[in-house]
Amino acid sequence: MSDVRTDDLKSGTFDTWAVIEAKRAEAVKTVQVKVDHKAATRQAIIVALRREGFTFKTRSDWKAKPGKNSDGPDWDYHGVALHHAGNSFSCDANGAAQLRKAEQIDLSNFGHVSYHYAITCDGTICEALDLREKGAHIASGNTGVVGIVMLADLSVRGEAYQEEYASKSLLGKVRGILKWGPDRLDTATDEPPEKQIKALFALVNVLRNFFPITMLGGHREYQRLSTGEGRACPGAYGMILVGMLRREYKLGEPKK
Ligand SMILES: [Zn+2]
Repeated sequence: MSDVRTDDLKSGTFDTWAVIEAKRAEAVKTVQVKVDHKAATRQAIIVALRREGFTFKTRSDWKAKPGKNSDGPDWDYHGVALHHAGNSFSCDANGAAQLRKAEQIDLSNFGHVSYHYAITCDGTICEALDLREKGAHIASGNTGVVGIVMLADLSVRGEAYQEEYASKSLLGKVRGILKWGPDRLDTATDEPPEKQIKALFALVNVLRNFFPITMLGGHREYQRLSTGEGRACPGAYGMILVGMLRREYKLGEPKK
């Protein structure tokens, strides 16, 4: 999206005058003014979060690599899906490096970053994929759903196996008998820091002000709905955040 301008909207007041002159209809010349409301909305979300004191990095701020492809446009958002970046991520690592790592994984898997927003453990909100583009964060279920990823590992040990792998293959079933999931040795889990939680709440709240968001869920809930498959994402801590957000903003669970 090389045409996306990243300048902040300038705020301020100005006066304007209009003179209305009655004329015969055929003599009236009209001028059509086109306003790109999607670009303006994207920008207004950024401005709203910065005004609340959050650090917001646009794609050009963090020098995102251009996507190799696109899943097309999307816009009429009614839902929000929460993700965690996964077992190989950690709040102990540098946030910018974690974002770059997530970008690299997504570019090779999907040709573009899959989520719309990413939040680092220090509470920086990053534009991951331009909101005007369809995400790739839920298999067969992205339309109308904003994807937010917490750049952390919010799942507890054994969860990936229990939620996802056990039913997937014969190997998974054998592992089930042996109780040997692929994340059995994943002992590190991030309890999301307060700054990251505050940024998440602010982002969801701002999105509600611009879109008629009625539901919010964890990736695993959305995935069950779209393909019936299991997912560990967004982890046990992520699902606690999902419950908190639903209560705070009176949002429903994902449903068809
Ligand atoms: Zn996910």
